[in-house]
Amino acid sequence: MPVAETTVVRARVALGGTVQGVGFRPFVYRLATELELTGWVCNSSAGLVVEVEGAPGRVDRFLERLEGEMPPAAVVLTRETAILAPAGFQNFEIRASDEDAAKIAGVLPDLATCPACLQELSDPANRRYGYPFTNCTHCGPRYTIIEDIPYDRPRTTMRAFMMCPECEREYTNPEDRRFHAQPNACPRCGPRVWLDGQPEQGAPIREAAGAIRSGGIVALKGIGGFQLLVDARQADAVARLRGRKRREEKPFALMMPTIEMVRQYCHVSGAEERLLTSRAAPIVLLRPNGNSMIAPNVAGSSPYLGVMLPYSPLHHLLLRECDFPIVATSGNLSDEPIAKDNQEARARLGQIADLFLMHDRPIARPCDDSVARVVRGRESVMRRARGFAPLPVYVGRDLPAVLAVGGHLKNTVAIAAGRQVFLSQHVGDLDTPESRQAFERAIDDLCRLYRFQPEIVACDLHPDYASTRWAQSCGLPVIEIQHHHAHAAACAAENGIEGPYLGVSWDGTGYGTDGTVWGGEFFFVDGAQFERMAHLRPFRLPGGEAAVREGWRSAASVQWAAVGPDAVADRPERSVLLRMIERGINAPWTTSVGRLFDAVASMAGVAQESRFEGQAAMLLERQIGDLATDESYPLPDGDWAPLIEAVHQDVARGEAAARIAARFHNALANWIVSVALRAGVERVALSGGVFQNGYLVERTAALLEERGFQVYTHQRVPPNDGGIALGQAVIAALRG
Ligand code: ZN
Ligand code: ZN
Ligand code: FE
Repeated sequence: MPVAETTVVRARVALGGTVQGVGFRPFVYRLATELELTGWVCNSSAGLVVEVEGAPGRVDRFLERLEGEMPPAAVVLTRETAILAPAGFQNFEIRASDEDAAKIAGVLPDLATCPACLQELSDPANRRYGYPFTNCTHCGPRYTIIEDIPYDRPRTTMRAFMMCPECEREYTNPEDRRFHAQPNACPRCGPRVWLDGQPEQGAPIREAAGAIRSGGIVALKGIGGFQLLVDARQADAVARLRGRKRREEKPFALMMPTIEMVRQYCHVSGAEERLLTSRAAPIVLLRPNGNSMIAPNVAGSSPYLGVMLPYSPLHHLLLRECDFPIVATSGNLSDEPIAKDNQEARARLGQIADLFLMHDRPIARPCDDSVARVVRGRESVMRRARGFAPLPVYVGRDLPAVLAVGGHLKNTVAIAAGRQVFLSQHVGDLDTPESRQAFERAIDDLCRLYRFQPEIVACDLHPDYASTRWAQSCGLPVIEIQHHHAHAAACAAENGIEGPYLGVSWDGTGYGTDGTVWGGEFFFVDGAQFERMAHLRPFRLPGGEAAVREGWRSAASVQWAAVGPDAVADRPERSVLLRMIERGINAPWTTSVGRLFDAVASMAGVAQESRFEGQAAMLLERQIGDLATDESYPLPDGDWAPLIEAVHQDVARGEAAARIAARFHNALANWIVSVALRAGVERVALSGGVFQNGYLVERTAALLEERGFQVYTHQRVPPNDGGIALGQAVIAALRG
């Protein structure tokens, strides 16, 4: 049963950089005991891990003071924080180092340019003035240049560049900021940038900026691959990019030169600013503030603008020239992997870009820009790639050597070593030969970099996922894990709970244990066991896969069942569709909440089709805008029939789409509360792609917390299928 409001919180902080052998653990011990916090600190292969537990205010103060007062010799380069379920620590202790710490050398992610390098970049008297590959031990590329461990220049893509005497002096001087900075370089000896097909003289960055300003599409070789850039204020340029990239409506990310400019276009909270300006420098999803300078076809259906700040000197120099917001999207065609090599980019992006801004520092592995947002006041990573990969996620128990191969869409893979799960960068959808190749490379890569020998392989239960097929043919023992169980377990694991808890797993599609399409599941979970205690009432999905793209098919199905055949919209395919539903031909059963979103979006006239996964749901969320209401549709025990009837009546009487959308979202939140009250547990974990919906997460969490539940949402791994691999690894360990 729900308990009284929590008065104790636990926070886990993972720090990377120069944090070992500099007096960091005793310092943490002193700070924690001064603030009367319990917990522990220990060295790990990727740096230092701290857990503190106590009153929320004291934990906040600890998190604030940690970096401000740390030992002078310490340098924090990466920091990941998560708020966890309380563990009931009795004291604060310095724990022995993680057993695996010695075995695995930490590989750092790519780090955004540091203030000192930025300063040199703009100082005309400095020898690196305007040099686009300036970096030091505190910043610059890491994961995308390392070819093998240990991390040393001959094993990076910088090995072809001979350091000049001055760079060599910096590199070998322990007092210097560039002591052992493996990508160290300068204009004399390092990589250079050019416009493809043009002589190397001139000002390539300024010319590229000029091309963008005049509406051109520029392909820029960045840190983890090529990006495609256009002026975000020019709708026709954006439309041209969409056409050539065959990305009709999926939102584009933006890059803006300064945080001040971000504030001109978006609401930015303190937590959002910290995320934007962090060394990970992800794309942050922000609420636009109505400034209309950004072309409407940039964000498309999204209620948010995805914005990042420049994170390499090359980006800083280009954005300084531009001084306006630019679209910065992955250099690929549709959903293929990002292009990373010069030759490859010319071949694959030649039909898209007007101009190529290239350089000669090879990229060892592709890494897209990461996407994150602030949910419930906490960081939540939606796509884990540049800036985060390959940092581990820490879990509460020792895991055997599991390789988890993830799902099919938004694929990532993971390896478990001790209490750490190392996640690959976002690989993408495994629909093309190119992406399946990228998937296999990601596995090879992780295993090689961490000298990892998998003993068990964990995969999805779906027999047709490319990742499952790979697992079945790899020759190792395989554990198949139900998709939504993996979602819930991922959320529980990164929040430090094992059970019992209520796992709410909602998404578009996942293979159920009964062979039907699941996606609206409530699991009672305890350890490796789960009981499907509730789910959405099943409905038929006429056309199967086609219904994922065409939401009006789901609408027809539920309208037919709830209101009658007359309610089904008149379309050319109507009679064929009705026959499919009635007779159950090519119309599999589903309990997918994602598809119910499609149905309601279609009925409300918001979206008849989805050009990308989750588009209709995104549009429906956006409809709500600033509308605040507690009104709700009935959804008794997950039976959508009364809800569909009510939507049908609202539509008939011309009710505003905003109200319909709000009532629908509220009905879903209320349903979760009613199941939670029945479940008899105090912990609720929300996972699955549906919970990328900000309105739904915030509302559900608030309602549950009001009633005394402890609510867990994703922080370090995505709620979507990008987080599946973590859940697979943890469940395989519990079963194995
Ligand atoms: Zn630096
Ligand atoms: Zn040099
Ligand atoms: Fe899923």
